[in-house]
Amino acid sequence: MPHSQVSELIADVREQVLFLRDLGVEALEVELPERRIVSGGSDKRVVDSERREVPVDAPRASYTPSFEKAPPPEKLELPKREITPVEKPAAGSRLAVLPSLKDRKPPRVTKPAEVAKERRESEVPKKSIDQDSALIDVSPKLEETTDTIESIREEIGECMRCPLREKRIQVVHTTGNLEADLMFIGEAPGADEDEQGVPFIGRAGQLLTKIIESIGYKREDVAIGNINRCRPPGNRAPTLVEAHTCRPFLLREIAVIKPKVIVVLGNTALHNLLDTKTGITKVRGEFQDYFGVKVMPTFHPAYLLRDPNKKREVWEDMKKVREYLSGNQAETRV
Ligand code: URA
Repeated sequence: MPHSQVSELIADVREQVLFLRDLGVEALEVELPERRIVSGGSDKRVVDSERREVPVDAPRASYTPSFEKAPPPEKLELPKREITPVEKPAAGSRLAVLPSLKDRKPPRVTKPAEVAKERRESEVPKKSIDQDSALIDVSPKLEETTDTIESIREEIGECMRCPLREKRIQVVHTTGNLEADLMFIGEAPGADEDEQGVPFIGRAGQLLTKIIESIGYKREDVAIGNINRCRPPGNRAPTLVEAHTCRPFLLREIAVIKPKVIVVLGNTALHNLLDTKTGITKVRGEFQDYFGVKVMPTFHPAYLLRDPNKKREVWEDMKKVREYLSGNQAETRV
């Protein structure tokens, strides 16, 4: 492109920037069309994402835009605007940080989650000791409830609400210390649990007992429950309808028990407690939140029976639980 055209282009751009600034615009995000190569035999072409062809091999100087530039109206007198060296933008203006073309860097791609986080961080005033008494804690907490474990059980009764009623022997309720700081949630009873009416007493349950003991608790110290209280035939995972029918009773029990930490064992427990579709492998070992209760997702003990190598990860996750609970010792109820 001849030098004169480049100068003209720069002057145009500058004029546009000044115009936008007059309008109060301080920063612009411009999405440039992506370019990709389209090959048709020996013919190599580059097109941008708006399907405009961009010549590659042709000498650049010979490129002429495919649109006609409208000639300026003959008699229109444009107010003269002196082209002066660019003034330094006012301190604090975001124009001050506009990169010059020669120093430009690729734009920072911000994911929506990051945007939300940044916004939260920038909007939420940092809590200082002086503010402590003045600030109202607005993060959602477990609701106060008038339920009791007994009233919830009574309501469940000989439950006939979902198809699992047909093949189960009995309803298997949450067990253990129902005032515990630590609670474990699994998927649904298996054959042994269905026979004996107690959650986690089969092979997977015995491994769970060892896991609990590995961090210094006894099985009776903690609460143990399942998303579903009836055994799905063949030990299949409960369907969405089955899980959603039974889950409310567990959530109400959690509001009564008010544990400090809930360990969710495997995908069914994770998905149904936190209403997420994220896989356990992705979030295991990282504390999540359930209305102010810390939730530690980890692998289900039945999975550990199939792949004992994964015990190491569960041990790591359980150490975090122990650490968190021992830090809360002063308030611990167990
Ligand atoms: N698996 C579960 O998820 N829960 C039980 O109670 C037993 C096995």
